[in-house]
Amino acid sequence: EPLVSLRGIGKSFANGVAALENFDLDLRDGEFLTLLGPSGCGKSTALRLIAGLATPSAGVIDWRDSAAAHNIGFVFQEATLLPWADVFANVYLPLRLAGKTREAAAPLVRETLALVGLADYETALPRQLSGGMKMRVAIARALVTRPRLLLMDEPFAALDEVTRFRLGDDLLAMKQRLDTTIVFVTHSIYESVYLSTRILALSARGGATVDAIDIDAAIA
Ligand code: ADP
Ligand code: ADP
Repeated sequence: EPLVSLRGIGKSFANGVAALENFDLDLRDGEFLTLLGPSGCGKSTALRLIAGLATPSAGVIDWRDSAAAHNIGFVFQEATLLPWADVFANVYLPLRLAGKTREAAAPLVRETLALVGLADYETALPRQLSGGMKMRVAIARALVTRPRLLLMDEPFAALDEVTRFRLGDDLLAMKQRLDTTIVFVTHSIYESVYLSTRILALSARGGATVDAIDIDAAIA
């Protein structure tokens, strides 16, 4: 049974733009799914609908487990860190918002910082970090609540090629370690093939989907 199913999803805006039309997706537990397609084809809209940050104009989103629906990690193209707060405080934030004290949260925050390779940077401020390290903090913040599902919207687009692939490798290790399902938005075919177990290609014509490519099956 899929982690979440999207059936006949449409999303149009007040200005008449239809970002998605009749979009279907069964997200498999544990997969690394890439949504691939040109700018404007509706990838971010699909992510925001899955995250519950927007409501569909048509169709149904069905979660197998409502706890998973309410604990979703989200990483954006920019790290969007609090500039005045140090690395620890940035990663602690979701747990703080959930009512956990700093003391109670500390072991989980530290474990997560170690997971993203930033164990030694607890007291660093965002402006002291490279772009790749800021993205690591953003990933740690998204993973600190141990979500079943991690949504990533072109997370590496602003990074140089070397950093991008190093972070990609590390992301795969984190995924394995935490057994997280990932939906990853990109317009890089190369990145999608390198990282994912399945690619869903969206066309530029407003959300018509091409058949999903199962990478493992294609290689086997
Ligand atoms: P992608 O992530 O693939 O670049 P988006 O999902 O961001 O595409 O956008 C799909 C289409 O919907 C685009 O034409 C975009 O301009 C439009 N769109 C997205 N959000 C809104 C909004 N809130 N209001 C109006 N149009 C929007
Ligand atoms: P909901 O459907 O839940 O009302 P929306 O999809 O209207 O949520 O979300 C609106 C957000 O999308 C706004 O914050 C807006 O800045 C952003 N947005 C993204 N792309 C566009 C776009 N092309 N035009 C206008 N707003 C956009």
